[in-house]
Amino acid sequence: MEYRDILVVLEKEDGVISPLSTEMLGRAKYLASELNQNVIALSIGENISEMSKEAIYFGADKVVEVGNKILENYTTLAYTKVLDFILDKYLPLAVFIAATPNGRDLGGRISARRKIGLVADCIDIVLTDDKKEIKWIRPTFDGQLYADIRISTKPEIGTIGEGAFRPLKRDDTKSGEIVKEEVSLSSEDVLTVFLEQIKSDGEKEVSLTDAKIIVAGGMGLGEKENWHLVTDLAHELGAEVGATKDVVDLDWVPYKIQIGATGVRVSPKLYIAVGISGAIQHTAGMKTSDLIIAINNNPEAPIFKVAHYGVVGDLFEIVPRLTEKIREINN
Ligand code: FAD
Repeated sequence: MEYRDILVVLEKEDGVISPLSTEMLGRAKYLASELNQNVIALSIGENISEMSKEAIYFGADKVVEVGNKILENYTTLAYTKVLDFILDKYLPLAVFIAATPNGRDLGGRISARRKIGLVADCIDIVLTDDKKEIKWIRPTFDGQLYADIRISTKPEIGTIGEGAFRPLKRDDTKSGEIVKEEVSLSSEDVLTVFLEQIKSDGEKEVSLTDAKIIVAGGMGLGEKENWHLVTDLAHELGAEVGATKDVVDLDWVPYKIQIGATGVRVSPKLYIAVGISGAIQHTAGMKTSDLIIAINNNPEAPIFKVAHYGVVGDLFEIVPRLTEKIREINN
Protein backbone atom coordinates (compact mmCIF):
# COMPACT_ATOMS: atom_id res chain seq x y z
CA MET A 1 0.00 0.00 0.00
CA GLU A 2 1.22 3.47 -0.76
CA TYR A 3 0.86 5.85 2.15
CA ARG A 4 1.00 9.55 1.40
CA ASP A 5 0.28 12.97 2.89
CA ILE A 6 -0.13 14.18 6.45
CA LEU A 7 -3.63 14.23 7.89
CA VAL A 8 -4.50 16.80 10.55
CA VAL A 9 -7.67 16.19 12.55
CA LEU A 10 -9.21 19.61 13.20
CA GLU A 11 -10.97 20.73 16.34
CA LYS A 12 -13.23 23.67 17.02
CA GLU A 13 -12.93 25.93 20.03
CA ASP A 14 -15.69 28.41 20.82
CA GLY A 15 -17.22 27.67 17.43
CA VAL A 16 -14.10 28.36 15.33
CA ILE A 17 -11.00 26.41 14.34
CA SER A 18 -8.91 25.92 17.50
CA PRO A 19 -5.51 27.63 17.80
CA LEU A 20 -3.98 24.18 18.35
CA SER A 21 -5.40 22.98 15.02
CA THR A 22 -3.68 25.89 13.27
CA GLU A 23 -0.41 25.04 15.04
CA MET A 24 -0.66 21.42 13.89
CA LEU A 25 -1.36 22.56 10.34
CA GLY A 26 1.74 24.77 10.44
CA ARG A 27 3.98 21.88 11.44
CA ALA A 28 2.28 19.46 9.04
CA LYS A 29 2.86 21.90 6.18
CA TYR A 30 6.55 22.18 6.97
CA LEU A 31 7.07 18.41 7.21
CA ALA A 32 4.87 17.68 4.19
CA SER A 33 6.93 20.08 2.04
CA GLU A 34 10.14 18.37 3.17
CA LEU A 35 8.60 15.03 2.19
CA ASN A 36 7.04 16.30 -1.07
CA GLN A 37 3.61 15.48 0.26
CA ASN A 38 0.41 17.40 0.93
CA VAL A 39 -1.47 18.34 4.07
CA ILE A 40 -5.02 17.06 4.32
CA ALA A 41 -7.21 18.50 7.07
CA LEU A 42 -10.09 16.43 8.39
CA SER A 43 -13.08 18.52 9.35
CA ILE A 44 -15.67 16.53 11.34
CA GLY A 45 -18.91 17.85 12.84
CA GLU A 46 -21.81 20.11 11.98
CA ASN A 47 -21.50 23.60 10.50
CA ILE A 48 -17.92 22.95 9.60
CA SER A 49 -17.53 24.90 6.37
CA GLU A 50 -15.90 27.89 8.08
CA MET A 51 -13.43 25.62 9.89
CA SER A 52 -12.59 23.96 6.56
CA LYS A 53 -11.87 27.29 4.88
CA GLU A 54 -9.74 28.41 7.79
CA ALA A 55 -7.75 25.17 7.57
CA ILE A 56 -6.81 26.08 4.02
CA TYR A 57 -5.85 29.62 5.04
CA PHE A 58 -3.59 28.07 7.71
CA GLY A 59 -1.79 25.65 5.41
CA ALA A 60 -3.99 22.68 4.40
CA ASP A 61 -3.76 21.75 0.71
CA LYS A 62 -7.03 19.91 0.85
CA VAL A 63 -9.84 19.46 3.37
CA VAL A 64 -11.96 16.36 3.79
CA GLU A 65 -15.29 17.21 5.36
CA VAL A 66 -17.51 14.74 7.14
CA GLY A 67 -20.60 16.67 8.16
CA ASN A 68 -23.45 15.08 10.06
CA LYS A 69 -25.81 16.17 12.83
CA ILE A 70 -24.71 13.08 14.81
CA LEU A 71 -21.18 14.51 14.80
CA GLU A 72 -22.18 17.89 16.22
CA ASN A 73 -20.43 17.04 19.50
CA TYR A 74 -17.53 14.69 20.01
CA THR A 75 -18.44 11.11 20.86
CA THR A 76 -15.87 8.34 20.90
CA LEU A 77 -17.47 5.72 18.69
CA ALA A 78 -18.87 8.00 15.99
CA TYR A 79 -15.64 10.00 15.59
CA THR A 80 -13.55 6.81 15.64
CA LYS A 81 -15.73 5.33 12.91
CA VAL A 82 -15.24 8.45 10.77
CA LEU A 83 -11.48 8.53 11.27
CA ASP A 84 -11.21 4.79 10.60
CA PHE A 85 -13.06 5.25 7.30
CA ILE A 86 -10.87 8.20 6.30
CA LEU A 87 -7.65 6.33 7.12
CA ASP A 88 -8.76 3.42 4.91
CA LYS A 89 -9.66 5.72 2.06
CA TYR A 90 -6.83 8.27 2.13
CA LEU A 91 -3.95 6.16 3.54
CA PRO A 92 -2.09 9.07 5.15
CA LEU A 93 1.45 8.36 6.28
CA ALA A 94 1.03 10.40 9.44
CA VAL A 95 -1.89 11.74 11.47
CA PHE A 96 -1.74 14.72 13.84
CA ILE A 97 -4.39 14.82 16.56
CA ALA A 98 -4.79 17.53 19.22
CA ALA A 99 -3.73 16.44 22.72
CA THR A 100 -7.02 17.71 24.14
CA PRO A 101 -9.33 15.45 26.18
CA ASN A 102 -11.31 14.57 23.02
CA GLY A 103 -8.21 14.21 20.85
CA ARG A 104 -6.49 11.96 23.36
CA ASP A 105 -9.59 9.82 23.51
CA LEU A 106 -9.84 9.61 19.71
CA GLY A 107 -6.13 8.93 19.23
CA GLY A 108 -6.07 6.14 21.80
CA ARG A 109 -9.19 4.54 20.39
CA ILE A 110 -8.10 4.59 16.74
CA SER A 111 -4.64 3.34 17.59
CA ALA A 112 -6.09 0.40 19.55
CA ARG A 113 -8.69 -0.36 16.91
CA ARG A 114 -6.17 -0.49 14.05
CA LYS A 115 -3.29 -1.84 16.17
CA ILE A 116 -1.03 0.99 15.08
CA GLY A 117 1.49 3.03 17.07
CA LEU A 118 0.77 6.41 18.62
CA VAL A 119 3.09 8.85 20.39
CA ALA A 120 1.21 10.96 22.92
CA ASP A 121 1.88 14.61 23.80
CA CYS A 122 4.61 15.31 21.26
CA ILE A 123 6.54 18.51 21.77
CA ASP A 124 8.36 18.25 18.46
CA ILE A 125 8.06 16.31 15.21
CA VAL A 126 11.08 16.23 12.91
CA LEU A 127 12.53 14.10 10.14
CA THR A 128 15.58 11.86 10.23
CA ASP A 129 18.62 13.25 8.39
CA ASP A 130 17.83 11.18 5.29
CA LYS A 131 14.26 12.57 5.44
CA LYS A 132 12.86 9.08 5.26
CA GLU A 133 11.41 8.70 8.74
CA ILE A 134 9.50 10.83 11.21
CA LYS A 135 10.94 11.35 14.69
CA TRP A 136 8.22 11.93 17.27
CA ILE A 137 9.66 13.71 20.28
CA ARG A 138 8.02 13.74 23.69
CA PRO A 139 9.13 14.33 27.28
CA THR A 140 9.69 11.26 29.40
CA PHE A 141 10.75 10.51 33.00
CA ASP A 142 8.56 13.37 34.20
CA GLY A 143 10.03 15.81 31.72
CA GLN A 144 13.67 15.12 32.58
CA LEU A 145 14.49 13.56 29.22
CA TYR A 146 13.21 13.83 25.68
CA ALA A 147 12.47 10.57 23.90
CA ASP A 148 12.89 10.42 20.14
CA ILE A 149 10.45 7.76 18.97
CA ARG A 150 9.94 6.05 15.57
CA ILE A 151 6.68 4.31 14.77
CA SER A 152 6.94 1.18 12.65
CA THR A 153 3.23 0.91 11.72
CA LYS A 154 1.26 3.11 9.31
CA PRO A 155 -0.26 5.57 9.55
CA GLU A 156 1.93 6.98 12.29
CA ILE A 157 -0.11 8.91 14.84
CA GLY A 158 0.90 11.64 17.25
CA THR A 159 -1.07 13.77 19.65
CA ILE A 160 0.26 17.29 20.02
CA GLY A 161 -0.16 19.77 22.86
CA GLU A 162 -0.70 23.51 22.65
CA GLY A 163 2.27 25.77 22.04
CA ALA A 164 4.62 23.15 20.59
CA PHE A 165 4.48 24.74 17.13
CA ARG A 166 3.69 28.05 15.57
CA PRO A 167 0.86 28.42 13.07
CA LEU A 168 1.59 29.77 9.61
CA LYS A 169 0.48 33.31 8.94
CA ARG A 170 -3.21 33.16 7.97
CA ASP A 171 -3.53 33.72 4.22
CA ASP A 172 -7.12 34.17 3.10
CA THR A 173 -6.10 34.43 -0.53
CA LYS A 174 -5.09 30.77 -0.49
CA SER A 175 -7.42 28.25 -2.07
CA GLY A 176 -7.64 24.50 -1.75
CA GLU A 177 -9.87 21.60 -2.56
CA ILE A 178 -12.71 20.72 -0.16
CA VAL A 179 -14.02 17.18 -0.55
CA LYS A 180 -17.16 15.96 1.17
CA GLU A 181 -17.27 12.38 2.41
CA GLU A 182 -20.30 10.45 3.62
CA VAL A 183 -19.82 8.02 6.47
CA SER A 184 -22.89 6.01 7.35
CA LEU A 185 -23.71 6.68 10.99
CA SER A 186 -26.70 5.83 13.10
CA SER A 187 -27.77 6.51 16.66
CA GLU A 188 -26.15 3.18 17.57
CA ASP A 189 -22.78 4.80 16.93
CA VAL A 190 -23.44 7.22 19.77
CA LEU A 191 -23.49 5.59 23.17
CA THR A 192 -22.99 8.79 25.13
CA VAL A 193 -25.26 11.80 25.21
CA PHE A 194 -23.80 15.28 25.15
CA LEU A 195 -25.63 17.43 27.68
CA GLU A 196 -23.66 20.60 28.21
CA GLN A 197 -20.14 21.98 28.03
CA ILE A 198 -19.04 23.67 31.24
CA LYS A 199 -15.81 25.63 31.28
CA SER A 200 -13.61 24.96 34.28
CA ASP A 201 -13.13 27.82 36.74
CA GLY A 202 -10.82 30.47 35.38
CA GLU A 203 -10.30 28.66 32.10
CA LYS A 204 -10.57 31.92 30.22
CA GLU A 205 -9.36 34.09 33.06
CA VAL A 206 -5.79 32.98 32.36
CA SER A 207 -5.13 32.89 28.65
CA LEU A 208 -1.40 32.31 28.74
CA THR A 209 -1.36 30.32 25.52
CA ASP A 210 -2.96 33.21 23.62
CA ALA A 211 -0.98 35.97 25.36
CA LYS A 212 1.09 38.30 23.18
CA ILE A 213 3.32 39.34 26.07
CA ILE A 214 4.26 37.29 29.13
CA VAL A 215 6.32 38.38 32.11
CA ALA A 216 7.45 35.29 34.00
CA GLY A 217 9.14 35.18 37.35
CA GLY A 218 11.39 32.67 39.07
CA MET A 219 13.19 31.98 42.31
CA GLY A 220 15.40 35.02 41.77
CA LEU A 221 12.52 37.01 43.28
CA GLY A 222 13.62 35.56 46.61
CA GLU A 223 10.28 35.56 48.40
CA LYS A 224 6.59 35.83 47.75
CA GLU A 225 6.49 39.44 49.00
CA ASN A 226 8.60 40.45 45.99
CA TRP A 227 6.29 38.82 43.44
CA HIS A 228 4.58 42.18 42.86
CA LEU A 229 7.70 43.19 40.85
CA VAL A 230 6.59 40.69 38.20
CA THR A 231 2.89 41.60 38.30
CA ASP A 232 3.62 45.36 38.30
CA LEU A 233 5.75 45.04 35.16
CA ALA A 234 3.15 42.79 33.55
CA HIS A 235 0.42 45.27 34.38
CA GLU A 236 2.26 48.17 32.71
CA LEU A 237 2.92 46.06 29.61
CA GLY A 238 -0.61 44.65 29.44
CA ALA A 239 1.00 41.22 29.78
CA GLU A 240 -0.01 37.90 31.31
CA VAL A 241 2.03 36.51 34.20
CA GLY A 242 3.85 33.18 34.20
CA ALA A 243 6.05 31.39 36.70
CA THR A 244 8.54 28.57 37.09
CA LYS A 245 7.66 25.31 38.81
CA ASP A 246 9.79 26.11 41.85
CA VAL A 247 7.77 29.26 42.48
CA VAL A 248 4.52 27.31 42.04
CA ASP A 249 5.74 24.56 44.36
CA LEU A 250 6.22 27.20 47.07
CA ASP A 251 2.60 28.31 46.56
CA TRP A 252 3.56 31.85 45.62
CA VAL A 253 1.28 31.52 42.60
CA PRO A 254 -1.21 28.92 41.29
CA TYR A 255 -0.17 25.94 39.15
CA LYS A 256 -2.23 27.20 36.21
CA ILE A 257 0.43 29.82 35.44
CA GLN A 258 3.37 27.38 35.54
CA ILE A 259 5.26 27.46 32.26
CA GLY A 260 7.27 24.50 31.08
CA ALA A 261 7.31 20.83 30.27
CA THR A 262 4.88 20.05 33.06
CA GLY A 263 2.98 23.33 32.84
CA VAL A 264 1.63 25.49 30.02
CA ARG A 265 3.54 25.83 26.73
CA VAL A 266 3.54 29.35 25.36
CA SER A 267 4.75 31.21 22.26
CA PRO A 268 4.10 34.91 22.87
CA LYS A 269 5.58 37.72 20.81
CA LEU A 270 7.54 38.83 23.87
CA TYR A 271 8.61 36.73 26.88
CA ILE A 272 10.39 38.47 29.72
CA ALA A 273 12.07 36.04 32.13
CA VAL A 274 12.79 37.62 35.50
CA GLY A 275 15.11 35.74 37.87
CA ILE A 276 14.67 32.46 35.99
CA SER A 277 17.68 30.17 35.57
CA GLY A 278 16.41 28.56 32.35
CA ALA A 279 16.24 24.87 33.29
CA ILE A 280 15.41 22.65 30.31
CA GLN A 281 12.01 21.83 31.83
CA HIS A 282 11.19 25.54 31.84
CA THR A 283 12.57 26.44 28.42
CA ALA A 284 10.63 23.51 26.90
CA GLY A 285 7.55 25.63 27.51
CA MET A 286 8.69 29.03 26.21
CA LYS A 287 11.62 28.70 23.82
CA THR A 288 9.37 29.15 20.76
CA SER A 289 8.53 32.73 21.86
CA ASP A 290 9.29 35.32 19.17
CA LEU A 291 11.44 37.51 21.40
CA ILE A 292 12.89 36.45 24.74
CA ILE A 293 14.45 38.93 27.15
CA ALA A 294 16.08 37.53 30.27
CA ILE A 295 17.01 39.44 33.40
CA ASN A 296 19.40 37.48 35.61
CA ASN A 297 22.39 38.39 37.76
CA ASN A 298 24.34 35.29 36.72
CA PRO A 299 25.91 35.71 33.26
CA GLU A 300 26.27 31.91 33.03
CA ALA A 301 22.56 31.25 33.59
CA PRO A 302 21.27 28.87 30.87
CA ILE A 303 18.34 31.19 30.16
CA PHE A 304 20.78 33.37 28.21
CA LYS A 305 21.23 30.49 25.73
CA VAL A 306 17.60 30.80 24.59
CA ALA A 307 17.24 34.56 25.17
CA HIS A 308 17.53 37.00 22.26
CA TYR A 309 18.48 39.80 24.66
CA GLY A 310 20.01 39.35 28.07
CA VAL A 311 20.25 41.84 30.91
CA VAL A 312 22.88 40.75 33.43
CA GLY A 313 22.13 42.44 36.70
CA ASP A 314 20.10 42.61 39.87
CA LEU A 315 16.41 42.30 39.12
CA PHE A 316 15.60 44.32 42.25
CA GLU A 317 17.27 47.31 40.62
CA ILE A 318 16.32 46.69 37.00
CA VAL A 319 12.69 45.63 37.17
CA PRO A 320 11.30 48.55 39.25
CA ARG A 321 13.14 51.03 36.98
CA LEU A 322 11.85 49.33 33.87
CA THR A 323 8.30 49.29 35.23
CA GLU A 324 8.57 52.98 36.15
CA LYS A 325 9.85 53.91 32.66
CA ILE A 326 7.00 52.04 30.98
CA ARG A 327 4.52 53.66 33.37
CA GLU A 328 5.82 57.07 32.32
CA ILE A 329 5.44 56.16 28.65
CA ASN A 330 1.91 54.83 29.27
CA ASN A 331 0.80 58.02 31.04
P1 FAD B 1 16.38 28.73 39.99
O1 FAD B 1 16.87 27.64 39.14
O2 FAD B 1 16.72 28.70 41.43
O3 FAD B 1 16.89 30.09 39.32
C1 FAD B 1 16.79 31.34 39.92
C2 FAD B 1 17.58 32.29 39.05
O4 FAD B 1 17.43 33.59 39.56
C3 FAD B 1 19.07 31.97 38.99
O5 FAD B 1 19.49 31.84 37.66
C4 FAD B 1 19.73 33.19 39.64
O6 FAD B 1 20.94 33.54 39.00
C5 FAD B 1 18.69 34.25 39.42
N1 FAD B 1 18.73 35.30 40.43
C6 FAD B 1 18.86 35.17 41.77
N2 FAD B 1 18.84 36.39 42.37
C7 FAD B 1 18.72 37.31 41.38
C8 FAD B 1 18.66 38.71 41.35
N3 FAD B 1 18.68 39.44 42.47
N4 FAD B 1 18.55 39.34 40.15
C9 FAD B 1 18.51 38.63 39.00
N5 FAD B 1 18.55 37.27 38.96
C10 FAD B 1 18.65 36.62 40.15
N6 FAD B 1 10.34 24.07 35.93
C11 FAD B 1 9.53 24.90 35.27
O7 FAD B 1 9.72 26.13 35.29
N7 FAD B 1 8.48 24.42 34.56
C12 FAD B 1 8.19 23.10 34.49
O8 FAD B 1 7.22 22.72 33.84
C13 FAD B 1 9.04 22.18 35.20
N8 FAD B 1 8.81 20.87 35.16
C14 FAD B 1 9.67 20.02 35.85
C15 FAD B 1 9.46 18.63 35.83
C16 FAD B 1 10.30 17.81 36.53
C17 FAD B 1 10.06 16.34 36.51
C18 FAD B 1 11.39 18.33 37.22
C19 FAD B 1 12.34 17.42 37.94
C20 FAD B 1 11.62 19.67 37.25
C21 FAD B 1 10.74 20.55 36.60
N9 FAD B 1 10.92 21.92 36.66
C22 FAD B 1 10.11 22.74 35.93
C23 FAD B 1 11.88 22.52 37.57
C24 FAD B 1 13.16 22.94 36.88
O9 FAD B 1 14.02 21.84 36.77
C25 FAD B 1 13.86 24.05 37.66
O10 FAD B 1 14.07 23.60 38.98
C26 FAD B 1 13.06 25.35 37.73
O11 FAD B 1 12.64 25.75 36.43
C27 FAD B 1 13.94 26.44 38.32
O12 FAD B 1 13.15 27.52 38.63
P2 FAD B 1 13.78 28.99 38.74
O13 FAD B 1 14.46 29.32 37.47
O14 FAD B 1 12.68 29.85 39.24
O15 FAD B 1 14.80 28.82 39.96
